[in-house]
Amino acid sequence: MSDVTVEQWVKKNPLRNCPDCGVKPGEAHNGSCDVERCSVCKGQYFSCGCEGHDPNETKWTGWWPGELECVERGWFAKCTPGVGWERCKSTDEGAMVDLNRLTDHRLGLSD
Ligand SMILES: [Zn+2]
Ligand SMILES: [Zn+2]
Repeated sequence: MSDVTVEQWVKKNPLRNCPDCGVKPGEAHNGSCDVERCSVCKGQYFSCGCEGHDPNETKWTGWWPGELECVERGWFAKCTPGVGWERCKSTDEGAMVDLNRLTDHRLGLSD
């Protein structure tokens, strides 16, 4: 169970421009952006180069791809000096959405 709802998260973390290519929410990434996902394989478009990718399907939404899914599942992590990344609550200091866990989960490597 998540200790924060997507609505609360969205209120606390307003839409932002793409951290890599700087486009506004609702716009397609501008070509060689690290954040852009591939609409064909769902991987990082920058590194896969699939044919038939549709940039309009993978527009920047204002949040990291998968960010709101992590919020929904209550998947957060924080980096503690000397310890590394640990799972934690959304209310912990320095908590970030655990996008790596989501990736592992999609690959079947994690719960
Ligand atoms: Zn971008
Ligand atoms: Zn691809």
